[in-house]
Amino acid sequence: MNRPAPKTFQIKSFGCQMNVYDGDRMAELLEAEGLEAAGEGAADLVVLNTCHIREKAADKVYSEIGRLKRDDGSRPMIAVAGCVAQAEGAEIPRRAPSVDIVVGPQAYHRLPELIGRSLQGLKAVDTDMPIQSKFGALPGRRRQGPSAFLTVQEGCDKFCTYCVVPYTRGAEMSRPWAAVMEEARALIDAGAKEIVLLGQNVNAWESEDAAGRRQGLDGLVRALDRLPGLERIRYTTSHPNDMKEGLIRAHAEVGKLMPYLHLPVQSGSDRVLKAMNRSHSAGSYRALIERVRAARPDIAISGDFIVGFPGESEAEFEATLKIVGTVNYAQAYSFKYSPDPGPQPPAWKTRCRRR
Ligand code: SF4
Repeated sequence: MNRPAPKTFQIKSFGCQMNVYDGDRMAELLEAEGLEAAGEGAADLVVLNTCHIREKAADKVYSEIGRLKRDDGSRPMIAVAGCVAQAEGAEIPRRAPSVDIVVGPQAYHRLPELIGRSLQGLKAVDTDMPIQSKFGALPGRRRQGPSAFLTVQEGCDKFCTYCVVPYTRGAEMSRPWAAVMEEARALIDAGAKEIVLLGQNVNAWESEDAAGRRQGLDGLVRALDRLPGLERIRYTTSHPNDMKEGLIRAHAEVGKLMPYLHLPVQSGSDRVLKAMNRSHSAGSYRALIERVRAARPDIAISGDFIVGFPGESEAEFEATLKIVGTVNYAQAYSFKYSPDPGPQPPAWKTRCRRR
């Protein structure tokens, strides 16, 4: 018996701001298809938009799937999206037959198609990383609160040894200038006063502007600064090696650019940083912070730290505490080292260069 097409949906996003952004875009897509958002336990379709950063990330998804079964034994149509979907793919419906759809972060523009496949009783798994990016196939932005996320860059080529992002989000890709400016204007028209530019390595973003000039994130920030109606600009997450002079100067010169910088360092020990393949030292990081502070003395700095990286000695942990004291962070996210739950490079999928 063919199952009825879903009329309502719920999206549950876990993890980073980019997953929240993707969740919003999927909601806009489903609304454009005529579906309506519904609350907990009331939706015909539930999308679990997953995060793969922590150990046992996948196990958490399977327990979340189990919780979707209703008291009368029925269950909604279940779609698993996000980074666990990308990493686990067809393994998910094999392990949890109640899952109808598996869709990766680069393929969710095909969600309506996948719902169609599922309604025909076909398993719908799509973890493709299409050359042509999803953004062009997504509907316009809908009504916004005061602050809106805007993904400008995705993927990562840094391959830190503890991180799964290069495998679940693919190679570094910068969205074209025109597409970003168009979406920024749409967000402002939809009510946003603040735009937070997102990327796994947002400060690696670059593109040609309307005049064909090569621009980095600083050029984009300066262009956004000129948009009427926008009051504040933020960006996250940056890598120390992509913090170029122009962006530091922008912190001194661009009025709408908020005095805040999230710059992960992970460890204060050069030996541990090397083992993490961070390709910067504690000294170069401190020098960078000094340059940023010279440009914008009132800037608030936040950082990420991993404690207990394999082989870390007491003295190396002390080196991390020392850099915390030296930089005097406004905010810090510290994590206990978590063995990489994900697939082992490089045997894994080849990563295409996307546009
Ligand atoms: S730079 Fe960030 S996203 Fe890239 S591999 Fe390292 S930790 Fe992961």
